[in-house]
Amino acid sequence: MHDNNNNPFEQSLAVGEKAFSSLIEDTVPVWPEMYEVLYAYESGQNVEIRSAIEELKRTQKQLDLNDLHKIHDEFFCNSRLLDVSEDIGNRINAEIRKIVSAMKSAGERSDEADLALGKIETKFSTIKTPEQLHGIVEILSDITRTMADNNRNLNAKLQKSTQQIEDLHKDLEQARSESNTDPLTGLANRKKFDSALRKSFEAFHECNQDLCLLIVDIDHFKKFNDTWGHQTGDQILRLVAQALRANLKGRDLAARYGGEEFAIILPDTTLENAFIVADQIREDIATKELIKRSSGENLGRLTVSIGIATAIPRDMPASLIAKADKALYEAKETGRNRCVVAPADEDLEAIADIAV
Ligand code: GH3
Ligand code: MG
Ligand code: MG
Repeated sequence: MHDNNNNPFEQSLAVGEKAFSSLIEDTVPVWPEMYEVLYAYESGQNVEIRSAIEELKRTQKQLDLNDLHKIHDEFFCNSRLLDVSEDIGNRINAEIRKIVSAMKSAGERSDEADLALGKIETKFSTIKTPEQLHGIVEILSDITRTMADNNRNLNAKLQKSTQQIEDLHKDLEQARSESNTDPLTGLANRKKFDSALRKSFEAFHECNQDLCLLIVDIDHFKKFNDTWGHQTGDQILRLVAQALRANLKGRDLAARYGGEEFAIILPDTTLENAFIVADQIREDIATKELIKRSSGENLGRLTVSIGIATAIPRDMPASLIAKADKALYEAKETGRNRCVVAPADEDLEAIADIAV
C-alpha cells in the first residue's frame, strides 16, 4: 500500500498548495521569495520562521509584503551563504588533499631515485671498461629524466590546484557579496543595511562625525503596479535604484529597505548636505519621463517622498530610522514628492514606541 503521507511529492504538493493559498488570501504577490517563506512556514520545518509568521498573523489582519521581505532576508539569505560557504570549504579541502597526496607521491618517487642512485654509487668502484661506464651514464640519465618528469608533473598539479583554490575563493567572495545584495536592484539588501548602520553609529560615536539617514518611498506605487503591471513596476524599482546610485558617492550606502522603500546612509554628512542630496534624488526622479521601451507607451511621471534625519549622541540605529520614518510620513501627509527633515532632538520616548 502506498501511504500518501510519506510520499514526498504528495507532501510537497499539500504544503505548496497551502503556501500558495495563503499568498492569494492576503493578496501578496506570488514571487518566488514570498512563496519560499510561506512554504517554509507551512512545512513547519523551521520553528523560527513558523513563530515569526505566527507573530505577524497574531498582530495584523493580513501578511504584509515588507514583513515577508524582512523574514526572507533574515532566514534565507544567510542560510544560503552558509550552504555555499560549506560547499566551497569542502571543495578547497579536497584540493588541499590533492596537493598533499601529489607531494607525498613525488616524495616517494624521489626516495626511489635516491635508492637507485645509491646502488649506482656502489657500482662506480667496479667500473673497468668504457662500456660499463656508458651503461651507468645511461642509467643516470634515465633517473634524471624521470625525476625531471616527476617535477614537471608535480608542478602542473600544484598549478592546477592553486588555480582551483583561487577560483573557489572568488566564488566565495561572490556568494558573500550576493548575500548582501538585493537581487532586483543590485543595491545593498536589508541585512547589509542593518550592519552598515550599526558600523556607521560606531564611527559616529567614536569620531564625532555627522551621520544622516534618508528613507525614500515611491509615491502611489501600488497604483502604478495596478495600472502597468508588476514587471513594469520592477523596472521602475531598478530605475529608482539607478537614480540613487547616480547621486551618491564615497562611503554613502543605498539599500533596498523594503518593497518600494530605500534607505540611504550618509556618513560624515551635515543635515544641510543631506537635504541637498535628498532633493537632488527627488528632482532627478520627478523630472524623468517614463517611456515603456517595448511599446513606446508613456507611463507618466514618478515621484518619491523622502524623510531625512540626522543622528544626535542619544540616538541608536532604531531611533534614527524612526525619526526618518516619521519625517517620511509627514512628507506623504503634506502632499508627497517632497523631502522633510525630522527635528534632530525628537522626543525619544515617543520614538521608542514606534521604533522597530
Ligand atoms: P504611498 O504613496 O503612500 O507610499 O503609496 P504606495 O502605493 O506607494 O504605498 P503602499 O504601501 O500602499 O503600496 C506599496 C506597493 O509597492 C505595494 C506593492 O504593489 C508595491 N511593491 C512592493 N514591493 C514590490 C516589488 O518588489 N515589485 C513591485 N513591482 N512592486 C512592489
Ligand atoms: Mg510608497
Ligand atoms: Mg512604502
